[in-house]
Amino acid sequence: MTDRYAVIGNPISHSKSPQIHRMFAAQTGQDISYEAIEAPLDGFTAQVEELRNKGYKGCNVTVPFKQTVWQSLSGASMTFNVVEAQAANTLTFRNDGIHLDNTDGIGLVSDIQNNLKIGLRNKRLLLIGAGGAARGVLLPLRNAGAMVTITNRGEFKAHTLAKAFSVAGCTYEELAGKQFDIIINATSSGINNEMPNIPADIFKTIFASSSLAYDLMYGHDTPFMKFAREHGAAIVSDGLGMLVEQAAESFSWWRGIRPQTAPVIAALRLP
Ligand code: NDP
Repeated sequence: MTDRYAVIGNPISHSKSPQIHRMFAAQTGQDISYEAIEAPLDGFTAQVEELRNKGYKGCNVTVPFKQTVWQSLSGASMTFNVVEAQAANTLTFRNDGIHLDNTDGIGLVSDIQNNLKIGLRNKRLLLIGAGGAARGVLLPLRNAGAMVTITNRGEFKAHTLAKAFSVAGCTYEELAGKQFDIIINATSSGINNEMPNIPADIFKTIFASSSLAYDLMYGHDTPFMKFAREHGAAIVSDGLGMLVEQAAESFSWWRGIRPQTAPVIAALRLP
C-alpha cells in the first residue's frame, strides 16, 4: 500500500518538495505519495490532525509554521536539534504519537561543504534573519566550526538567539566596517522579491574577497544574490541544494534509505 506524506505551508504553491520526494521515491523504489497542502494561518494543528486521521505517515513543515510546530506540538517526542532550534520541519506519525526532527541545518551544512566544497571551520559567517529557518541552522553551522554572527531586522530576536546559541549577535548598524567569508540570507525577503533591509552603504562592504553569499530562498535569483554578485561575493548560491539535502534527510528518517541528491539537484536546475 502506498504510504502518504505531504508538506504543509502557507503559501505553498512555490514548493518543490513534492517533485523532490517523487524523484527520491523513483530512485529508491519506495512506494510513497507526497503532496503540497496549504493550511490556513490559524489552522496548522487541525491540518496535522487531519493528516494523522487519514493515515499519512508523516509530513514536512515550511514557512510560516516551523515554530508553530514547536509551540503547538510540544508534547511530541523530538530530536536534540528541535529542542535547540525550537523549530521543526519533519514530522513522523507513529502509533504512539508524533516525532519531530529538524533537518534544515544538516541540509545547509551538507550543501555548503559537500556540494559547494566550501569548508565552514573558522570561517567568519554572517547569518541574516532570526525566524524558524535561522533557528534550525544555527547549531549545525556552529558545530561545523563556523564563527557565527547573527543579525536581524527585529534586533531583540537576533540578540535572543545569539545568547541561546552562544554566538555573536549585532544590529544592522554594528555591521559597519565588518567583513565575512560566508553571508547567509535566512530572511524571507526573497519571497517578496525584496532585499533584507540592511542599509545599502553598510551591506555592500561586508563581502570579503572569495566570500560565499548564500540565499536560503530558491527558484530564482533573489535581489540579495544580485546585490552580492555586484558587491564582491566570489560565489553566489540559492538554497536549492539545501532544500534537496534537507529533503534527503527527511526521506531517510521516514524510509530508512538515503537517496542520492546530486541527480535530483541537477534535474531541478534544468531550464
Ligand atoms: P520566518 O517567517 O520564520 O522568518 C522570517 C525572517 O525574515 C524573520 O527573521 C524576519 O525578520 C525576516 N524578514 C522578512 N522580510 C524581511 C526583510 N524585507 N528584511 C529583513 N528581514 C526580513 O521564515 P523562515 O525562517 O521559516 O524562512 C526564511 C526563508 O528561508 C524563506 O525564504 C524560506 O523559503 C527559506 N527556507 C529555505 C529552505 C531551504 O531548504 N532552502 C529551508 C527553510 C527555509 P523579523 O524577525 O524582524 O520579522
